[in-house]
Amino acid sequence: MPNTKYVFVTGGVTSSLGKGIVSASLANLLQARGLKATIQKFDPYINVDPGTLNPYEHGECFVTDDGAETDLDLGHYERFLNVCTSQANNVTTGRIYQSVIEKERRGEFLGKTVQVIPHITNEIKERMQLLGNSGAYDLVITEIGGTVGDIESLPYIEAVRQLRWELGNENCVVIHLTLVPYLSAAAELKTKPTQHSVKTLMESGINADVLVCRTEHELSESIRTKLALFCNVKREAVIQSIDASTIYDVPLLMHKEGLDRVVLEKLGLPDILEPDLTNWKAFLKRHKNPKQHIRIGLVGKYVELQDSYKSILEAFIHAGAANEVAVDVISIHSEDLTPENCTGHLKDLHGLLVAPGFGSRGIEGKISAIQYVREQKIPFFGICLGMQMAVIEYARNVLGLSSANSTEMDGDTPHPVISLMDEQKDIENKGGTMRLGAWDCTLTKGSRAHGIYKQENISERHRHRYEVNNAYLANLSKNGLKATGINPKTALAEIVEIDAHPWFVGVQYHPEYKSTVLTPHPLFTDFVKACSEYANQ
Ligand code: GLN
Repeated sequence: MPNTKYVFVTGGVTSSLGKGIVSASLANLLQARGLKATIQKFDPYINVDPGTLNPYEHGECFVTDDGAETDLDLGHYERFLNVCTSQANNVTTGRIYQSVIEKERRGEFLGKTVQVIPHITNEIKERMQLLGNSGAYDLVITEIGGTVGDIESLPYIEAVRQLRWELGNENCVVIHLTLVPYLSAAAELKTKPTQHSVKTLMESGINADVLVCRTEHELSESIRTKLALFCNVKREAVIQSIDASTIYDVPLLMHKEGLDRVVLEKLGLPDILEPDLTNWKAFLKRHKNPKQHIRIGLVGKYVELQDSYKSILEAFIHAGAANEVAVDVISIHSEDLTPENCTGHLKDLHGLLVAPGFGSRGIEGKISAIQYVREQKIPFFGICLGMQMAVIEYARNVLGLSSANSTEMDGDTPHPVISLMDEQKDIENKGGTMRLGAWDCTLTKGSRAHGIYKQENISERHRHRYEVNNAYLANLSKNGLKATGINPKTALAEIVEIDAHPWFVGVQYHPEYKSTVLTPHPLFTDFVKACSEYANQ
């Protein structure tokens, strides 16, 4: 049995404290010390995966190479660790129950009454150890979604209690993330909510080893001592997590507070080498010292909620740093755009990205925006639905097919330039049935895409049901919109671009999922470069 160590991260007091970022930061520090670490997230909701969730509910759905539709925290894990995650890194209550019920139907429980304890908790524990048992990791960090005390989190907390008992205290650390609120009327930081949430955790048989305290003000020595005393943790295990100007500062802040050292010590792992954060710090330096500010519009229908386009926003940060440029992303609601008001909304931008999406709400606004930036020669980047809208716009306004559309929006369009993929035609279930995950793509030599990727064969992640209708490709290409990236197996058009434009690229896939701090995505980097050049004109 591999000697993998386990770190569990629970949350108390309130949600949205940044458990994902703290977990990713810890993993980052451990990795920078030469350890092999991965992170997994257990979510207490009953959806089998977040793929069917509206972004307003839960933010972006992140997609892995192996085609898992996952929580957006997996995006943070990949961006911080620069390694791929997979289906095994995200488990929901729905998936746990689905699997237990399937086993019950197969008769695997041999006539036993199937119960939360032990059957659900056994399934949770098995999945919690899946990556650890692969032998590929020294440490597995498990983030438990939700807040301690929630009814739905209870089986996970119980599973952690059992696992700690089974694996031994020396092989497990429990980090509890809480809020230390500041009451301005009293001009004081308050420890009571943390005390209560630690107590709630204790009622479930878990003593937190480390407290990570989210706070807007510095924790004084006396507050730290008080928290340690009342919450049963060592003084050095009270870690302050103060609001940071960027999430990418958090690994450095956690290191300064000693989070990595406390975890190593608890697990009996050597704390000899300092983490090597040279490249990380170089990124932060570029990010914080931009030589220029540029404005890029982001047109989407979920722009009210920042988390809806998380990976795109982060990819702009990585690409901005690579270009030593600060990208100010201007959110534009697609439903607000009309052919008449595009000039007002878009004329001061240095580039435009049209976002992915589903359904017809706001698509005419997207099409108007694309026409504007195409004609005004403002750099344009279309992702998934954004790419499909660029094809529709071109068909309507350049090929003269005024009623061109996607069959997703208009099943009876006489010019279905975007149509349902053949393999999708007989599918009825919505969950996990899109074209998902990594697919190969071959680039046309000499195209812009080829110049950017500097290689002929690439692999990118997907999440869609519709595709460019190949019946229109020749006409589009003859008139200037060329398919320069093709799936070698299915001949599906993955990239379209216009030569006679400073930068006009649409991609059927999602490059944003593969952009990380240390490896910004080449398309984003080149797009930002083009926007910066446009701004300098
Ligand atoms: N709705 C489109 C499709 O299913 C685009 C999907 C997307 O933007 N992710 O093909």
